[in-house]
Amino acid sequence: MNALTFPILRLLANGQFQSGEAMARHFGVTRATIWNALQDAETLGVRFFSVRGKGYRLPEPVNFIDAGRVLAALGTRGAEFSLDLHDQLPSTNTHLMARAATGAPHGLCVVAELQTQGRGRRGRVWQAGLGHSLTFSVLWRFDCGAGALSGLSLATGIALMRALSELGVSNAGLKWPNDVLHEHRKLAGILIELSGDMDGPSAAVIGIGLNLHLPEHLLKTIDQAATDLNRLGSHPADSSVVLGSVLRHLAMVLEQFEQQGFDSLRAEWMALHAYENRPVSLLMPDGREIEGIATGIAIDGALLVKTEAGLQRFAAGDVSLRRLS
Ligand code: ATP
Repeated sequence: MNALTFPILRLLANGQFQSGEAMARHFGVTRATIWNALQDAETLGVRFFSVRGKGYRLPEPVNFIDAGRVLAALGTRGAEFSLDLHDQLPSTNTHLMARAATGAPHGLCVVAELQTQGRGRRGRVWQAGLGHSLTFSVLWRFDCGAGALSGLSLATGIALMRALSELGVSNAGLKWPNDVLHEHRKLAGILIELSGDMDGPSAAVIGIGLNLHLPEHLLKTIDQAATDLNRLGSHPADSSVVLGSVLRHLAMVLEQFEQQGFDSLRAEWMALHAYENRPVSLLMPDGREIEGIATGIAIDGALLVKTEAGLQRFAAGDVSLRRLS
């Protein structure tokens, strides 16, 4: 990547026009060098306007992460995390999984301003451009084995919901096992990847994508209804405050998860489930669809559904839950 690309994007972050000449002077380079760096931004999918006589501007202001504000929002929980901020990464989960394998510390949080190949479950894609979505992954090391972590994505959902509530977002809900919805539109997704022995210790990379501001062109490329924090609030979300708040709640929820198990969080999760007691359909890996009424979750985070065949339990694995209207 061109070393000037992100410094230039930071100059353009306020969404105002900056002339190529002024930016060239600022960095002590030629206008052609500025142009080349912006071409590089374009290849990363960053859109900008270029107007003769005025210069360049981004379509919208971009709120870059500020480590100081993240730490302020983390408060006393700040000591539990170390932040690793990146301008651009293909996938924060992939990056952190590799670092976890070579001994990265508990609490390491990798954040990408621009994630170009974000992943969902089973090869699906998390779409995000610069400033569109807060994309980060946290490494959490557990003494127990990976087998005991089946409720972890649900616990993470609770942390996200507590943070959203603190940030003034109402009417959000959880969709089993790993999504945050707002009025049936997806606001955030969670992707957990585990490593380690079945008997322990184990390590979890907890990946989160939380939409900040999805432009119309991006919304159209997402194959389900989606929304973002800016559409829900009266003022633009400060990504640093959002990140600090999510991490602080994550630390609190994971402490409870480790000390008391997922069972202690189960009632809170069910109260937040968007489809609790609603008709749902489960898409099975073999293509079958099973319909029923979502009826809570088990102590290991499995979904319980009242079906024609009786009460059935579904482990997250390869099952996808859909609402039946
Ligand atoms: P499941 O119920 O199996 O988790 P899912 O469709 O939510 O199903 P995930 O793997 O959790 O699948 O998330 C990936 C999906 O999320 C994509 O296939 C797409 O439909 C949707 N998606 C991708 N990017 C975004 C985004 N920025 N905001 C909201 N939704 C998105």
